[in-house]
Amino acid sequence: MIKLVERAQKFRNRIAIISDGNSFTYDQLLHDSAHFAQVLLGDGVDLHEQPIGILVNPGYEYVKAQWAVWRAGGTAVPIHPKAPISSIEYIFKDTGLVQIIVQEELLNTVQSLAMGSNVRLVGLNEKAGAPYSLPNVESGRRAMILYTSGTTGNPKGVVTTHSNIEAQVSCLVDFWQWTEEDHIINVLPLHHVHGIINVLSCALWSGAVCEFMPFDAEKVFKRIASKEVNLFMAVPTIYYKLITYWEECDENTKAALSEGLKNMRLMVSGSAALPVSVLEKWKSISGHILLERYGMTEIGMAVSNSYEGDRIPGHIGKPLPNVELKLVDEEGNEVSRGEDGEIWVKGPSVFKEYWKREEATRDAFSEDGWFKTGDIAIVNEGNLKIVGRSSVDIIKSGGYKLSALEIEEVIRKHPSIKDCGVVGIEDEEWGEIVAAALIPNEDDIDLEAFKEWMKGNLSSYKIPRKIKILEDLPRNAMGKVVKKELKKDFKDIS
Ligand code: ATP
Ligand code: MG
Repeated sequence: MIKLVERAQKFRNRIAIISDGNSFTYDQLLHDSAHFAQVLLGDGVDLHEQPIGILVNPGYEYVKAQWAVWRAGGTAVPIHPKAPISSIEYIFKDTGLVQIIVQEELLNTVQSLAMGSNVRLVGLNEKAGAPYSLPNVESGRRAMILYTSGTTGNPKGVVTTHSNIEAQVSCLVDFWQWTEEDHIINVLPLHHVHGIINVLSCALWSGAVCEFMPFDAEKVFKRIASKEVNLFMAVPTIYYKLITYWEECDENTKAALSEGLKNMRLMVSGSAALPVSVLEKWKSISGHILLERYGMTEIGMAVSNSYEGDRIPGHIGKPLPNVELKLVDEEGNEVSRGEDGEIWVKGPSVFKEYWKREEATRDAFSEDGWFKTGDIAIVNEGNLKIVGRSSVDIIKSGGYKLSALEIEEVIRKHPSIKDCGVVGIEDEEWGEIVAAALIPNEDDIDLEAFKEWMKGNLSSYKIPRKIKILEDLPRNAMGKVVKKELKKDFKDIS
């Protein structure tokens, strides 16, 4: 039986979900998802591992649909309801969906996509006909196809089994000490592990409350101030927006919000590198040192800062208890202490395969079964620090290997700069040269003075040769900077 469903049976009348101002108990979720599983089974079709799309906004109806797919024996394919139609179409075709559960207002969009195919569109309010018994779902069965964020290329469908998900969730629940007294607000989309696994599934595994709301800094602070909420997880850009909101509040409001912040048990950041400046500002506002963790769609969470011990700014911490991890060089040999290398991981949380991409799956693993993450890291005093993605953040210039993330951290220290993105641009002489896009605090920044400042703060070979001022960095739905896009901005600059 599906572990999350089995565990929910003991939480009965406790609140599982709050969405749109309504509360739903664990019993309701169990009942409604069983009923909706019957809808999916329709006239008794065998849904064994069949991909079923879920195009539903974050909230109770989404959870009902996801559990129903699992209980009907299918494979859930969460799709971002606000994604552009071309992205929805991409997933549609890539997975070969047999059914798609659709929110009312998206029906028209999907109808045109489904035209000429045999995909069954299922509305959230459909009622089941004849009762069919729900299948027994073994833990090795495919549970989910989640698409990667598409930061470095086309999103890849990552297949995880029920036992992968159990391993990912149970490990985090223990490590972050979730209990049924917890109450988390979810502001994240539900088509990535951050929202689905770390927030939603950990909450439901624990008997806790998961409250949905679209992100709005004022509303999030209000809920925190109510002291009903004690957990929050988000991406760095969301913390950045909370900081900006806070800075505009008057002293009385700040005092009221501070009380609520003291009540928080844990605040987590992940999905992209957390700038140290954001960590420090958030600490001064809230008293919390954000817990930074590192993970991927393919592996769930792999590394986390300590829950109770020290957290070192700029570091992601140590491997989680069920994760084996090593750093290797380009030949796949483990690097010596203090050297950087690619993160390779093994363990029960690692995914099964890329959907219909046999070659990509083969390439992603070493011969002895290690998953190659493509992220480069280094160990400082036992704690891992991400240096960057091998494909976009490691700039090979004149024989040096430079970390874009490290250069970004330095540039962000400049008082006139709000944010920046560093990339490598192909260059005949140097291989690659460093280029930086700057997002200034004020409209005008004295570039000559900035260049002087860099000379005092960066080694000469790390200083960006090309500089561009932008209003904002190109980001995807998870707030990650899409460096491939950013590189294009430098094409016309000599
Ligand atoms: P794609 O694989 O399609 O290019 P993606 O890698 O961004 O997209 P995800 O699986 O959502 O898709 O993200 C995983 C990646 O996010 C990791 O490989 C890593 O590069 C980055 N990441 C996650 N957490 C952190 C963190 N704490 N610090 C730095 N990078 C992080
Ligand atoms: Mg990736």
